[in-house]
Amino acid sequence: MTGTVVLGMQWGDEGKGKIVDLISPSFDAVVRYQGGHNAGHTVRFGDRHFALHLIPSGILRPDTRCVLGNGMVVHPQAFLDEIDRLESLGVSTGGRLFVSERAHLLLDLHVAVDIARENAMGDFKIGTTSRGIGPAYEAKVARSGLRLGDLWSADFEGLLEERLARQVRDLGAAVDLATVVAETRSRAEVWRTRLRPYVCSTTELLNDWLDAGRRLLFESAQGTLLDVDHGTYPFVTSSNATAGYAATGSGVPPTAIEGVVGVLKAYTTRVGSGPFPTELMDSAGEKIRKRGNEFGTTTGRPRRCGWLDLVGARYARRVNGVSAIALTKLDVLDSVDEIPVCVAYRLDGVVTRDLPSDIDALARIEPEWEVVPGWRRDTAGLVEFADLPAAARSYVELIEERVGAPVTMISTGPRREETILRRGLGAAVTSAAPASETRDAF
Ligand code: GDP
Repeated sequence: MTGTVVLGMQWGDEGKGKIVDLISPSFDAVVRYQGGHNAGHTVRFGDRHFALHLIPSGILRPDTRCVLGNGMVVHPQAFLDEIDRLESLGVSTGGRLFVSERAHLLLDLHVAVDIARENAMGDFKIGTTSRGIGPAYEAKVARSGLRLGDLWSADFEGLLEERLARQVRDLGAAVDLATVVAETRSRAEVWRTRLRPYVCSTTELLNDWLDAGRRLLFESAQGTLLDVDHGTYPFVTSSNATAGYAATGSGVPPTAIEGVVGVLKAYTTRVGSGPFPTELMDSAGEKIRKRGNEFGTTTGRPRRCGWLDLVGARYARRVNGVSAIALTKLDVLDSVDEIPVCVAYRLDGVVTRDLPSDIDALARIEPEWEVVPGWRRDTAGLVEFADLPAAARSYVELIEERVGAPVTMISTGPRREETILRRGLGAAVTSAAPASETRDAF
């Protein structure tokens, strides 16, 4: 049983893409288990770069298999567009990219509903990525969703009419049902042909791989504080981004998960609306945004920036069972004189180290700060912990102590090699050795 989860410990955009890319050579397959094309990794390929939204970046390594699990919602055209872009760069996907027949179809209908709702919400908008993810999950839970496997159902026509009628009604979509049905029917013709090589029972596939001793990397999108159950509800995504869902969203047993790597940015960012206790509204926030290039991969939106929140990080460690922390973007803080870190919350005069579930309480929180000295030296590209300035090492140690997990990887720049690997998992999962000795027999 050899599964490892990589997930975000904040509100997403922690730099999971780089960490997954770094450690994926030690795994046979990379599996996504929730969300849809609202995720985003910028991938550099030679002198070109493009954003992957659905397919894990592991696809760029020729020996790595990639799986989109049953917990996902998949927009067929977005998926096919990514495949086309990859193929145009010479990256072949045949025989190593698989999508669950149980994953739900995300339709243009859902995109239209998402956009219309956000526009109608005014000040209360969630700040979704307008990709239709929420409405697609609503249809799933309302049991009116269509799944990828349905495309080959003998009763596809019946399903199409019945499910779409319920979706249009329940989602309150301002569309003409007959047109939606006709459009979906004609697109389904194309999808059936083009998706056929990819759609299968990934549950069976993954369990076969586990039985054969393959190592699986489960890649979460978004972050813990955006999880629909454990995040800052209702300003959350529509799926579970936490570690537990890696099992449910891919069909492997929870006992297959042996390690959880929590990716934590050295400061905090958030896209969209919702409470953000350590947010900076001044020039310090602006500096971080510029230096950290904090603009969304999927939407291009400027991200809200703030100091590190150790209450949130500890909460994420506990909810996910984080066994190792990958600390990213340490170099972005290089020029800061003094770094305030939130070590507790004060709520109505009472100090707490818990994250309140009540959104109003969260909005009222005042951070208790501990101010630590900055290092004011260039750490970009460093690869040895001992070479970090003493103040930067203390910053790392403070995080370990307050969050309660070891920092085994420290990212000091966007490139793969700009990483400090420390003890334990960090070193183990980044060894250059092939994932499984018997990989050839995959
Ligand atoms: P993800 O969705 O969690 O992968 O996060 P993003 O796509 O927003 O990735 C963060 C961005 O920061 C990407 O453009 C990375 O290339 C870049 N990045 C990742 N790690 C580091 C780092 O340690 N330092 C700097 N300066 N940039 C980094």
